[in-house]
Amino acid sequence: MIEKKGLGKWVIARFQHETNTFSPIPTPLEAFNPLWGQDAYRDQENAQTAMGAFIQIAKQEHVDIVTPVCAFSNPSGSVCAKAYERICNSIVEAVEQGCDAILLDLHGAMVSEDAVDGEGALLKRIRSIAPNTPIAVALDLHANVTPLMIQDSNVMVSFKTYPHIDMYDTGIHAGTLIRDMLKGKIRPTMAYRQIPLLSHTLRSNTNEGAMKLAVEAAAELEKKSGVLAASILAGFSLADFKDAGMSVIVIVDELSSPSTDLAEHYAAQLESMILSQADGFIYESSPINTALKRASELADSPQKGPVLLLDHSDNVMSGGPCDTTDILEAALQFGLSNIACGPFADPATVQKLVQLGVGAKATIELGNKSGWKYRGVSKPPLQLSGIVRAISDGQVKVTGPIFKGSILSMGPSILFETAKAQIVISCNRVEPYDIAVMTDLGIDLESKSYVLLKSRMYCRPVFFPLSKGFVECDSDQGGPTSSNYDWFDIKNIRRPIYPLDSGINPQ
Ligand SMILES: [Zn+2]
Repeated sequence: MIEKKGLGKWVIARFQHETNTFSPIPTPLEAFNPLWGQDAYRDQENAQTAMGAFIQIAKQEHVDIVTPVCAFSNPSGSVCAKAYERICNSIVEAVEQGCDAILLDLHGAMVSEDAVDGEGALLKRIRSIAPNTPIAVALDLHANVTPLMIQDSNVMVSFKTYPHIDMYDTGIHAGTLIRDMLKGKIRPTMAYRQIPLLSHTLRSNTNEGAMKLAVEAAAELEKKSGVLAASILAGFSLADFKDAGMSVIVIVDELSSPSTDLAEHYAAQLESMILSQADGFIYESSPINTALKRASELADSPQKGPVLLLDHSDNVMSGGPCDTTDILEAALQFGLSNIACGPFADPATVQKLVQLGVGAKATIELGNKSGWKYRGVSKPPLQLSGIVRAISDGQVKVTGPIFKGSILSMGPSILFETAKAQIVISCNRVEPYDIAVMTDLGIDLESKSYVLLKSRMYCRPVFFPLSKGFVECDSDQGGPTSSNYDWFDIKNIRRPIYPLDSGINPQ
């Protein structure tokens, strides 16, 4: 039992990575742009993140705040061992100096080269040097929660939205619980259920279907007396380690609960609700030509605006290199035209076209340079002829609801125009959080028949309002973030698990 009287000193840190163990993109220390000490504090003091929320609560309580690190990387391959150690050490060393609470803003689906359970191993280290210090963790909804993570923390709360717009609220939730725990007002106890379900990211949209119902059930549960938090974790299926997949966490206040196993009871209730709708968490990709046929029919409808083609076989925010050309190639072969597409990350092509300058005609070798292999086979770049229409520095201000106000750094970028497509090519991998990734280079989106985006979810709040509809597109050959598990050599995820094991029916 942990009871603290004074609020004293809090260690607050952010270390976020969603690891796609199949991604060809490496994750060295630089990928995190780590900020240390006071730089981390200044960056996060007013940020709409869980760490930003932790700092606000700490300030209200006049506690001493120590911020060893703020490190965030876009999803990519396993975290380089040196980067993992360097960032973990900074947090552990801060805890070793002594503190009264530890508040961590983690993703929950991190795999490093030397720690498959990235968050679990970090929490274990912290717990070993601070066995009686309360630990609160804010998690992404796509966390792969492990038994070790639960064992070595006191409070764990995840986002309830995808697309994620409640990072700050989640931080306030977890931070408030640890504050009240320190004041002796509550005594949290956690229950956790790992569910034999490998859900698809496209089925974790909290605005529709089974995930919406599950999150609503969790929110209802939180209204019950004694329930402090209820989290539904969709998990992240492209991490090939034992604990990938769905889970639920319920936190109950021992001081006000009528029975000690109430948390277990509610967690079991959420688990059985999820399992009763297991198929609602599974997505089946259509053959690409079926999807493109649907798109062309939609394009013929009288409403205004382009049809969005969402390429979820290569999505930056699930660890995609942002340079596969399958969907563009298929769209051109299918006969679609008047397409805007991108951004494709291809620094070599950008460099070449910057040298040629605006107005130059060129034949380019686009994409397929990241090292991604389709069942061991590499694809050549896509050869296209066209004109360099525009060059920009690629600094884009986000006006949409996710990361609003932040600057998206595409790096030097090009608008390359062929007979059938206007293609944005950037140096950096970027998720299209804002239409400016295309409009800043001069694309008139509303005049386009199709807009092909390497995005499954985050483009939606900003691109949907100007479109007449959307079609989700997966490559017939798979891809680094494909929704078709058949294309991945999954070896380590616990079995049996639905839907990998067709023989099991979790219902
Ligand atoms: Zn997520």
